Amino acid sequence: MYKWFGMMKSNYDLVVIGAGTAGTLAAFAAKEEGLENVLLIDRKSRENIGRKICGDGIGTKHMTFLQEQGFPIKEQSVIKNKIALAKIVAPNSKVVSRIPVLGHLVILNRYQFGQTLLERTLAEGVTLMDKTTFSDIKRENGEVKIALTKAGHKSEVITTPLVIDASGINSKIRENPHFFAPENSLADDEQYYCYREIAKIPSLPFKYRQTAIFEFSFERTRGGYLWFFSRGNGELNMGCGIPKSWINQINPKEVFQRYIASRFKKYQTLDAGGGFVPTRQPIPSFVKDNIILVGDAGTLVNPIHGGGLSPSLNGGFLAGKIAAQKITEEAVTEADLWPYNIKIVERYCQRYAILDLYRILLQNIPDEELLQALEKGYFPLGKIFYARKYEKLLALSRKLGEQWAQLPDPRFNLLPEYLESIHTLTSNYPTTPTELDSWATKYRSIYRSYQQKVQFTP
Ligand SMILES: Cc1cc2nc3c(=O)[nH]c(=O)nc-3n(C[C@H](O)[C@H](O)[C@H](O)COP(=O)(O)OP(=O)(O)OC[C@H]3O[C@@H](n4cnc5c(N)ncnc54)[C@H](O)[C@@H]3O)c2cc1C
Repeated sequence: MYKWFGMMKSNYDLVVIGAGTAGTLAAFAAKEEGLENVLLIDRKSRENIGRKICGDGIGTKHMTFLQEQGFPIKEQSVIKNKIALAKIVAPNSKVVSRIPVLGHLVILNRYQFGQTLLERTLAEGVTLMDKTTFSDIKRENGEVKIALTKAGHKSEVITTPLVIDASGINSKIRENPHFFAPENSLADDEQYYCYREIAKIPSLPFKYRQTAIFEFSFERTRGGYLWFFSRGNGELNMGCGIPKSWINQINPKEVFQRYIASRFKKYQTLDAGGGFVPTRQPIPSFVKDNIILVGDAGTLVNPIHGGGLSPSLNGGFLAGKIAAQKITEEAVTEADLWPYNIKIVERYCQRYAILDLYRILLQNIPDEELLQALEKGYFPLGKIFYARKYEKLLALSRKLGEQWAQLPDPRFNLLPEYLESIHTLTSNYPTTPTELDSWATKYRSIYRSYQQKVQFTP
């Protein structure tokens, strides 16, 4: 706990914690919207911002959006490769789904991407404090005080009307019970540990070229998956994601060695490392008085495959715009910031809330049953993965529901009922914060109930 005495004070219109995808876009958008003093802080040094262990896959439309905002997305340096085909592979190693994605999916040079976002944001006039760690926050007189420590310097306190927390999965503000309820934390089965390597593979087999491959098998990844994303020039970004609840029994690096590295006679590792990604239904609200949570800090990630670049980019941008307007109007209470929730629920949360039921299903289905469901076509994982619009996912899920209601297995036959409950709830998202608590209790209990009913322990 920080001791709030005898410290220096500076004032900023807006403080953004974390210069990842969500934070840079938030700071950029706020400045673009006309805010004067926008401060962006990151514990990394400026030249290390953008170094992030990631699969590096992102939808092409987000690159177009960035270009429209004036970010110099150069094909050669930022975009490593364009993917032609996404494949879903069943536990018996057979491809069960092929989805043409040319023009829709690219693989990034993640470092260049991060640096491009940062440089353009700084060129807009945002102030960067790098090598600076956020350690504590308190609310006072309608503002927030933020304690920061810069390497080799005395700690400093910044006063601001609004903070956007973009500090990633381990957000201290989301985990602070003074601000967010404990239900907003990530349970161990609601975050995946991912280990990945970027490797150059001489004579890379044809099936890995220009493709993004997702392989599912409970035995190997306990509801997570293995991925192989082509970076072109014989390079792969490949790894495994495993629920944190299993990593004491299953070592992700061993899974990598056994089921990924062993496929290639020779390869040269260019980069290696691990990291956590949130995989739960989105938290019920991203705002409190003086605070907005964005990106991984707000757990806003596709829970079925862990893709978080799109929601961090768009969510960050939207948060920056709304923050700038509200700060200008001197209206930064939870109720004032509520429009952020409404927009994000429509754009992402409704879809992710349904996908999280599928995530629970995948974490509790033995391989022989998954194989049967995939091969017989009544669990079209590829279509579920790529249903990018909520209405499309809902229609597909309802159609599946008619089939699934006839199956004896509760994992399948209960899901339509839970899906309707989630749909009803997210379609009636509270219009003000006063209704949130009772809404959130119902929301969380739906997942708990489904989880309990389908629990599978090998
Ligand atoms: C292995 C792996 C593979 C993935 N693959 C994909 C993929 O292929 N496609 C996809 O869309 N998503 C993928 N994701 C998810 C995606 O990377 C994240 O969802 C996304 O990067 C989140 O962005 P962010 O800005 O919210 O957080 P981050 O990128 O984590 O940025 C947070 C920033 O905050 C800084 N910070 C943290 N704490 C503090 C502090 N206390 N003080 C100051 N600064 C702080 C950090 O240094 C960092 O720069 C993957 C994730 C992992 C782990």
